[in-house]
Amino acid sequence: MNPVVIAVAITGSVPRKKDNPAVPTTPAEQVESTQAAFEAGASLVHIHVRNPDESPSSDPALFAQVQEGVRKHCPGMIVQFSTGGRGRDPSARGNALDLRPDMASLSTGSVNFPTIVYENGAALVTELATRMQTFNVRPEIELFDLSHIHGARRLIDAGLMDERPHVQVVMGVKNALPAEEHLLDMMLSEIRRVLPKATWTAAGIGVNQSRVMEWVLARNGDGVRTGLEDNIRISRDRLAGSNAELVAMAAELAGRHGRRPATPAEARAALGIAAPGLAA
Ligand code: ZN
Repeated sequence: MNPVVIAVAITGSVPRKKDNPAVPTTPAEQVESTQAAFEAGASLVHIHVRNPDESPSSDPALFAQVQEGVRKHCPGMIVQFSTGGRGRDPSARGNALDLRPDMASLSTGSVNFPTIVYENGAALVTELATRMQTFNVRPEIELFDLSHIHGARRLIDAGLMDERPHVQVVMGVKNALPAEEHLLDMMLSEIRRVLPKATWTAAGIGVNQSRVMEWVLARNGDGVRTGLEDNIRISRDRLAGSNAELVAMAAELAGRHGRRPATPAEARAALGIAAPGLAA
């Protein structure tokens, strides 16, 4: 069995420190939390940064600090910046891409979120994809709905992305795609038809985290995603103590399916990302 790429979404954009103080929000906390998660088996870190008041930030200086710390303390780990929109000015969402992280998240369409419309108009999607291509940043396509698969195809056809994108089905966001197993199969069948060379993973939000992981592992997905961005609880009565604790749980679950966590080199090979420092 191929090793599984464990992605850790360490922080997210929703202020949660009041709900779980283990959510890292300063660059120093984020690097420390990432290092522990890396040592527990994560090979990819998904990063949002926060202002001192915990609101979401687009400040490239903060992204730079986290990236520098991760590169230093987690050798080879894939650095992925979020270009997500919650609480951020649309025009600033791509402004840290010139720091050349290995990857960046990219949503290819709009969707309802719990309290807002998550707007990803075609022009903004094209602009972000163009910047990613310019700076050799590999996109991870976030699929919140079926039409977003076709949004990814549009970018390939426009020459903005290669034929082998990495895609992630996001399930269980309130008002968006519910976390239901048959819906993952429906999405996968369309992914295989429209993006036949794509690597894939899925993320379950909140209480859905471990069940979505089970579905991915049962279907031999390329990666799983965990972390305090998506889920701050181990169970109804117990908060997660750290990102590393969630990664250890994901690694254990993978082991039950006969898979082990991918090393950084294996993760890079699987997702088509050059070794750090070798990017064009
Ligand atoms: Zn995110």
